[in-house]
Formats: sequence, structure tokens, C-alpha cells
Amino acid sequence: MSTTQEGPAASATSAPTLRNHVGGEWVAAAGDSLESRNPATGEALAQVPLSTAADVDAAVRAARAAFPGWRATPVIERARAVLALRETLVRHRDELAAIVTRDMGKTLADASGEVGRGIESVEAAAAAPHLMKGENLEGVARGVDVELVRQPVGVAAAITPFNFPAMIPLWFLPYAVVCGNTFILKPSELDPLAGARIVELAQETGAFPPGVINLVHGAHDAVNGLLDHPEVDAVSFVGSAATARHVYRRAADHGKRVQALGGAKNSMVVMPDADPALMAGGVTSSAFGAAGQRCLAGSVAVLVGTEAEQDASLALILEAATTMRVGDGADPLTDVCPLVTPAARERVEADIDTAVGEGAELVLDGRGDGGTGGAEVGPTILDRVAPGTRAADEELFGPVLSLVRVPTLEAALERVNSSRYGNASVIFTSSGPAAREYRYGVQAGMVGVNVGVAAPVAWFPFAGWKDSFDGDLHANGRDAFDFYTRRKVVTERWS
Ligand code: NAD
Repeated sequence: MSTTQEGPAASATSAPTLRNHVGGEWVAAAGDSLESRNPATGEALAQVPLSTAADVDAAVRAARAAFPGWRATPVIERARAVLALRETLVRHRDELAAIVTRDMGKTLADASGEVGRGIESVEAAAAAPHLMKGENLEGVARGVDVELVRQPVGVAAAITPFNFPAMIPLWFLPYAVVCGNTFILKPSELDPLAGARIVELAQETGAFPPGVINLVHGAHDAVNGLLDHPEVDAVSFVGSAATARHVYRRAADHGKRVQALGGAKNSMVVMPDADPALMAGGVTSSAFGAAGQRCLAGSVAVLVGTEAEQDASLALILEAATTMRVGDGADPLTDVCPLVTPAARERVEADIDTAVGEGAELVLDGRGDGGTGGAEVGPTILDRVAPGTRAADEELFGPVLSLVRVPTLEAALERVNSSRYGNASVIFTSSGPAAREYRYGVQAGMVGVNVGVAAPVAWFPFAGWKDSFDGDLHANGRDAFDFYTRRKVVTERWS
């Protein structure tokens, strides 16, 4: 990343202060700052400014000023701009992955996969000339025709979480701008470097005029500044369930269009007939990959069958979990990366203590000294977790797998559907009828069959049900074009 006075960071020191990107310029923010560190090493990476409402206002005004010109840019040119962004992202994929690993902690392989998923969203957005097409009906009355056209909404803001710092900004940026909106990104204050680099790369393409893509660093004040600003027309949010509800309510209160993707407690149902290797690999990589910090991470395994069958499934999961190596995501041998901060480790370890206090059996204990950066927790398995406890029902966002035992698929479905969340759910089985019954009945927006992390590709919508999502239109897929456009119906008579 550039560290020049003109770039996204204000000095070439080891922890430079980041800048906002407003109207095509990198500008200092007025607020205080907080430090972002590499969770594996503790190295200070950047001072992240906590932008104020005034900083947000400057970005919104720049976006508003750029809107008429960008909206008037032919859709094919906007699609080409998005394709130019794709080309630069492909060229810088390794660099972006390394930034994600340093700033957030996940393994390089995971980070590269994340950047690849983000690039897929850019590719899906490039279909705008097709997907922005309207409809028409000739001759609704004598000499009268009706046409539906799609127009951009205006200024769109995206507020993103720490766990996919490259991919999630790309769930929104390319669709928003290809539809003719101007855009403001507020990345997570915990790991904003990848988001800032993406904005810098977009600017360097020369394909986006000043003010089309803006960036505001910060935390709550910056978010609330966007939610309250009368010139922000649409808000996309991804983060925890409580913040999603806050964002949804506050943005809607101000008359904005909003989509708010929230937290999760994803269950993985393990049938006794599941393929052993597929199941054990799928369950453990879902629960412990990225240290359990994926919104699609399976954090509850529902073991189905007799006590002996449940024990056999547990033995397979335990064997796979104990071979996973914990360490720095930059080390190619690492399976389980550190948590995003030492504070997250303390929280997760406290949750493990609570679960044990509430009667869960600690089958595998990943607690240790936290490693060099103080943020590591190894794979942890809690058996016989009781319904109604935090480990059973709430997102711990760490490498902690809660086991629940039930006799039948019917009981498993009942258990899974009792959750207040409905992001993702998966089943491991070799039975077609069982898989069919599960996918038919499970209350979740994203479902996997013999797949541990059921992440839809970018050409399909991405979001959960129930408390995992507030809004109507999901991220990605056709929903993205519906979210970022307004429909207008024109009735015409010429004679
Ligand atoms: P978070 O809610 O703490 O933060 C998300 C964003 O909201 C950040 O930009 C942050 O600055 C802002 N924010 C946080 N608290 C706020 C408040 N009180 N007022 C205003 N703004 C606030 O989430 P996180 O810890 O960064 O991310 C992890 C969460 O995101 C998990 O719950 C995970 O399940 C969820 N997530 C969901 C999806 C999905 O598709 N549903 C995808 C990724 C992550």
C-alpha cells in the first residue's frame, strides 16, 4: 500500500495514520484514532481515524456532487469501469490477500479465496447492461405504451465487518457504481487496510471520476453519521445481529433503503450415514477455519442417531480437530489463525468458561497462552451443550464447536429451527431422502448438503433469514440490481 502524503496513509512510519478518500483525494479525518495491529505478531499496522459526522458529511457531499455525471455515464462505460477494477484486483490478488492476512489474521489461502470471491462479485456486477434492462408493454390502451425503467438510487453507503475485509466491500461497491450510484465505504475499524487498498486500486484505474467511490474510516460515529445523513439514499450493512438491527431501524427511520446482514448460529447436522472423511473435514474446517470467524461457520454440530452412532461421529470430528495447527496465518502450515484481537480471545475464553460452568463437557480445550500476538485460541469442542445456554444459542465467533445430540432427523430439524438465527445450515448424509427433507424444512437462507461452508457464488443472493437479516433484498445476484436501482413506470401517448 502506498504510504505517500497523497496515498491512503499519512506517513511512512510503522503505523501510519490512514486517510479518508473524498472526492478523489486522500484527506485527513478530524477525529481521534485507534491502532490496528497484526493479530499474529502484535505489530502495529496503522492508526485508524475515527471520523466524525463532519468527515462523513464531506464524503457524502462529494458523492452527491459526482452523482449526476456518473448517472449520465452510459451503462456500458460503467460496466467497463467495473471490468477495469476486476483486472486490477486480479493483478493485485496476492498483495490484497497478504494485507488481509496481516490485518485480520486469516490464513493466506483463506485470504486469497476471499479476494477471489470478491472478484466474482465484480464479474457478476459487469452484467449490468443486461440486468438493468426494464420491461415494456405496448398498447395498454389505443396508442398508449407503458415502459418500466431502472434508475440508480443516488448515494449508497456500505458499512462492513472485520471478518471479510476485502470480500464484503466488494459485495456492494461494484453493483452500486455499475448501476450509476455513487458510493461511500465505511470499513471495519479493526482491519481497514484491504478496503482502503481496494478504493486506491479503483482510483488508480482512472475509470471512476472523483467522488464516485469514497471511503470514510471510523466506528460508531461514522456509521451513525451515514445513517442520519439526509443525502445518503441507500445503506448496505454487514455485521453482528444487534448492530444490524440498529442500522436497519435508524436508516429506515430516515427514509433510506436498507439491507442489513447480521450474525448467525449455524448448525451442521451429522447423520450416522455421512461419509466419514467428507463429514469430519467439512465440520472441522467450517467450525475452526478462520478461527470460527465466518458468518457461515458451523458452530453447532447436531449429532443424530443412537448414543453409539453419536459417539462415532464425535470421534471422527475430534480426530480431525486435533490435527489442526494453530498459528500465524502467514505460515502456510497454519490451519487455525488467531482471533482478530487479543480482546476477542479473552471474550471467547470467557465464553468457554461459562459453557463449562453451565454443564457442557469440554472434549477439546484450545485455550493456551494466546501465541505471540495474544490472540490465538485452538479448536475447542463442547459436548452435551444444553439448549438455552449461550454456547448453544448465541454466536461466540471463535473456534468453538458445540455438540448437541438428538435421536432422529426430525428432532435435529426441530432443534436447528428453534434458533432465532437463520443464516446457514448444512447436513452431512449419504441419504438423498434425508438431504431432501432437510433442505425442504430447514429455516435458513443458505443451505449446504455435504458442504461445510455453504457460501453461494456471486450470481446468487447472499443473506440469511430470521434475526440474521433485516431487509428485503439480499447482497449479490439479481437482488443487488434491485437494491441499487429504483423502478420507474412511464405511460406514453403520442397521438
Ligand atoms: P460489528 O457489528 O461489531 O461491526 C460491523 C460494522 O458496524 C463495523 O463497521 C463497525 O464499525 C460498525 N458498528 C459496530 N457497532 C456499532 C454500533 N453500536 N453503532 C454503529 N456502528 C457500529 O461486527 P463485526 O464484529 O465487525 O463482524 C462480525 C459479525 O458480522 C458477526 O456477527 C458475523 O456473523 C457477522 N457477519 C455476517 C455476515 C452475513 O452475511 N450475515 C457476513 C459477515 C459477517
